[in-house]
Amino acid sequence: MDYPGNLFVVAAPSGAGKSSLVKALLELDSHLQLSVSHTTRAPRGQEKHGRDYFFVSEDEFDNMVKSSAFVEWAHVHNHRYGTSKKVIEERMSVGADVILEIDYQGALQIKQIFGNAVTVFILPPSWEELRQRLERRGEDSAEVIETRLANAAVEVKQATNFDFVIINESFERALFDLKTIVHSQRLKYLAQRRAKAPTFSALEID
Ligand code: 5GP
Repeated sequence: MDYPGNLFVVAAPSGAGKSSLVKALLELDSHLQLSVSHTTRAPRGQEKHGRDYFFVSEDEFDNMVKSSAFVEWAHVHNHRYGTSKKVIEERMSVGADVILEIDYQGALQIKQIFGNAVTVFILPPSWEELRQRLERRGEDSAEVIETRLANAAVEVKQATNFDFVIINESFERALFDLKTIVHSQRLKYLAQRRAKAPTFSALEID
C-alpha cells in the first residue's frame, strides 16, 4: 500500500538523540505531524496523555492488539508500544505528512505496509559518545545504562535496513540532514504531482 502523503519513520538506539532531533524538526516544519503512540509504560516527568503518548493499561493494550487496532507494535525495553490505525488513518484521510518516532522493529513493519514510507536511522558517532550521552542524561542507573548499551550494539546493525542514515555527531548538522531528507522526499515527482496538482494540470502533465 502507498501512503497518500509523505510518511517518515525515524528510529535509533536510545541516547542517539532521536527525540531531540524530531522535536526540533517539528518546531521548524509546520506541515509535519507527529503520530502519538500508545504505550503500556507509565508517564515520566512532564509527559501528558494524548500529547506524548496515549498511556494505556496492559489490558487495554491487549484488547487493541486483539481487535487489530495497531498498524505496528513492538516490545521495547520491557514495555509495549504501538502505532494505532486510527491515528494513521485520520492523517491519511487529509493527506498530511506524518513522522513516526518509533523503534527499529516498528519502522521495518511500517516499511512493509507502506512501501513509500521513508525510513531514517540515527547513529551515534561512537560507543564512547553514546555512553557519555546516556550518563549525562542522568535518567538511568549504571545497570540500565549497561543494558541500553548492550541493546544498542544489536540495534545499530539495523542501519543496513533503512533508506537513510544520519550520524549524530553535531546536533545542527544532524538536524540539517534530517531536514534535507524531508525536503528531498517532497520534491520527488509523485509527491510534487500530488501536492501541486493544479500546476501539473495547467501544464498538462500526467
Ligand atoms: P520511550 O519509553 O523512551 O519513550 O521509548 C522507548 C522506545 O520505544 C523508543 O525507541 C521509541 O521510539 C519507541 N517507540 C515509541 N512509540 C513507539 C511505537 O508506537 N511503536 C514502536 N515500535 N516503538 C515505539
